[in-house]
This record gives sequence, C-alpha cells and structure tokens, in this order.
Amino acid sequence: MSDPHDDEDDDYEIDEETRALAFETVDVAPGLTAVLAEHIADYDMLPHVYFGDVSRWAEAEAARSGGSSELVALLALLESSYLTGNGDVQNLIDASFIEMVEDNPAIVKLLQPVLLSRVQPYYRPTKSVGYPCPVCGYSNLKEPPRLPGGGGSYEICWSCGFEFGVTDDDNGYSYLQWRERWIASGMSWATEANHPRPKGWDPAAQLASLMD
Ligand SMILES: [Zn+2]
Repeated sequence: MSDPHDDEDDDYEIDEETRALAFETVDVAPGLTAVLAEHIADYDMLPHVYFGDVSRWAEAEAARSGGSSELVALLALLESSYLTGNGDVQNLIDASFIEMVEDNPAIVKLLQPVLLSRVQPYYRPTKSVGYPCPVCGYSNLKEPPRLPGGGGSYEICWSCGFEFGVTDDDNGYSYLQWRERWIASGMSWATEANHPRPKGWDPAAQLASLMD
C-alpha cells in the first residue's frame, strides 16, 4: 500500500521551466499579480496549485468580460509555451489548466489550435452549432434569421455584418445584394473588434456551404 505523500517527499523537484512560466503569467496578465502574491505567501511556488488559481481567474475573467485582452494574452502565452516547452510544462498546462477549463465554452472558444486540440473531443465546439446565415453561410447564428411570425431576429451576423430585420427591412438590401457587397469587399470578418474570428475561419468554404 503506497502513501502518495512518499512520492512527493522523496525527490519531487519543481522544474525550472515550469516555475518560470508560472511567474511569466503576471507579465501578460497583470490581473494575476494578487493571485500570485497570495499563492507565494501560502506555498512559495507550487506550479500545479498556482495554475488551479490561474484557471479560476481565467473563468472569472471570461464570465466578466467574455474575453479580456489579459485573458487572451494569457492563452497566447500558454499556447506558445505548450509548443516550445518541455514535458513538465506541457503536463502543467494539460493537467492544471486545460482540464480545469475545458468544460467552459467561453474559454474554449478563445483557445488557439494547439491547446484546443488538447480539449477532450466532447467539449470541443462542433462545426455547426447554430443557424446558418443565409447571406454568407456562417454556421453559428444564435437565432433563426426570421422569427416564426416573419420578423427579423435583430441578430448581427459576426461574419458578414448583416442585421436581420434592419439591413433588409430598413435598409432595403436583399440577401443576394449584401452577399455580393461582402464578396466585393474581400469577405472580411465583420466584427473583429468585439468577436474575434474563429481560428481557421474560411469564408470561401463557408460561402460554398450555402450552395450545397
Ligand atoms: Zn452572414
């Protein structure tokens, strides 16, 4: 019968790279400064324990802001660290961050490709989870563009910027006219500032899906 404490007491050493990553988190996300200070006061530095706190901070940040620049910067740091780090760094990010947040769609949708690939498949966003945009083919509208009574949803398509019930009813554009306008302008993501485009977003493939 083994006592789990034996393993830790014997020769557990904190990998330097792992430790460095823990301290780097506050450089990109100053909001973690107090979290780190409290952790140091309690534990000196135990990266896995600290990353549990980082996970909770990230969840609170996602709930508060939907994706603050600090949270986005933290996720970028973890993405690059996962790519360049040693096995201990990868294990830290896998076990004490991804596993903590992977059931939280607000965070998962902000993950870059490598970390997204570490999320359990059943938590990953499915290819099409919403209603298709009849203008540009974007697959993830939250509501049907026209409601059962015939009125517009007033939802703005993040991809092409069409607002159902306004762009058509008030401004007089048909779906086809707006689509041609969007194509002519280079099929750019319409709402970059508020809703960053999905990783790997492919407007041409999305548009082609309309023709299927
Ligand atoms: Zn659209």
